[in-house]
Amino acid sequence: MVYLPRKKFYITTPIYYVNDVPHIGHAYTTIAADVIARWHRLKGEDVFFLTGTDEHGEKIQQAAEKVGKQPKKFCDEIAKKFKDAWKALDISYDHFIRTTDESHVKAVEKALQILYKNGYIYKGKYQGLYCVGCEKYLTESELVGGKCPDHLKEPEVLSEDSYFFSLSKFHTILLNKIEKGEMAIKPEVRKNEIISFLKSNKLEDISISRSKVKWGIKLPWDENLTSYVWVDAFLNYVTGIGWPNKAFEKYWPVDLHLIGKDILRVHATIWPAELLAIGLKVPKQFFAHGYFTVNGQKMGKSLGNVVDPVELSKKYSVDAVRYFLIREFPFGEDGDFSEKALVNRINGELVADLGNLIYRVLTLAERYKGKIEGEPEIDKNLDIEAIDSYIENLELHNAIESVWKFVRYVNKYINEKQAWKLEGEELGNALYNLLEACKVISILVSSFLPETAEKINKQLGVKGCKLKDCKFGKFTGRIKKGAYLFKKVE
Ligand SMILES: [Zn+2]
Repeated sequence: MVYLPRKKFYITTPIYYVNDVPHIGHAYTTIAADVIARWHRLKGEDVFFLTGTDEHGEKIQQAAEKVGKQPKKFCDEIAKKFKDAWKALDISYDHFIRTTDESHVKAVEKALQILYKNGYIYKGKYQGLYCVGCEKYLTESELVGGKCPDHLKEPEVLSEDSYFFSLSKFHTILLNKIEKGEMAIKPEVRKNEIISFLKSNKLEDISISRSKVKWGIKLPWDENLTSYVWVDAFLNYVTGIGWPNKAFEKYWPVDLHLIGKDILRVHATIWPAELLAIGLKVPKQFFAHGYFTVNGQKMGKSLGNVVDPVELSKKYSVDAVRYFLIREFPFGEDGDFSEKALVNRINGELVADLGNLIYRVLTLAERYKGKIEGEPEIDKNLDIEAIDSYIENLELHNAIESVWKFVRYVNKYINEKQAWKLEGEELGNALYNLLEACKVISILVSSFLPETAEKINKQLGVKGCKLKDCKFGKFTGRIKKGAYLFKKVE
């Protein structure tokens, strides 16, 4: 085998802001991270998969007030919705971090103290456009015709005492690390965007405190101010594995920060600068995936086309949703989501290829009473190294397509052999090949379609295995044919 397992593999999703309930966009990132995490576990690596929720700030404070709830109670409810959604979608995270966790809050206070002591935080004046109606600062891009779109009033220019983080000091070192690949950014097009941004702009210091936001972590040296998102939220990636406890070194630096492309720039600049300022190593790799439209339209609450991934999985099965999201769009690029395309994938690939294969093989196996043994004939068509390298390169769509090539090949083998006409030893040999192929396919699909893999194993009477077991050996299962794996959608 060419692929080499690492000792450890640490992967994260962004922490999701609790001003919104989980939608298909959150699910996309999280399912992709889950597939990658499961694959690395399959390789025998010590995997840590972190996800969670970002719970502080003005928007949450206001959303909670609006429904007459304490912010913490409001966050508890939304965080639970995320946890429930990940359970429904078979997400195998190792830890779910919430930025209101006491251990996180303590760690952020500690980080702020270190940054302050190391001379990377200084006092200045923050100036912004403040809308009295919203009770918050608005960015230029939020204004419509110079006015707050909700209150139709021009915001006031307001300033307040604030603390700043010396991001500008890290400009050159960050550019260097990105260019040298010491901190990898993928896909290549995104890396180039960040490099050209850094070459044509100078990183500016950022305000890290707010005086008007009560729902946040207080600055240890000035209790009238709360920490702004930049320090609080990013820190989850280290506090989620135990920092400042030494134990976090087991997994740090992170192997893969999986994020959406809109948050890449802040992730690739502010976050590593903070790490360097604290005295920690920068992330090994960022991967920014694309976004999808829904039936050709941008997804949004106002358009009423927000897709609920849990509802979708109830309607079509979890694995159908997981399969579709990974298979339909080249990972890293934008795509379009439609139920029609989902149904096509279900009927054309899950039912007609995989479901059909397992059903045919088990039907043959059940009526055969002889010995299932023979010579491996079809394992040559299996290229596990190729599948593994697709996943290493984060070409998840190509990885699953390669598995499917083998599934289709095995179906073809049944047809060409006319296996249903065989008898005796010849049938025993064909069945040996087919059952071993199904066993291997079950291992290979287990990261993508965990529920389906379990169903296949049950029917084959075998246990789930590691990637190293993905080879033809002796068939030792106890056949028990079950129902079709997938239902055809009319
Ligand atoms: Zn307003």
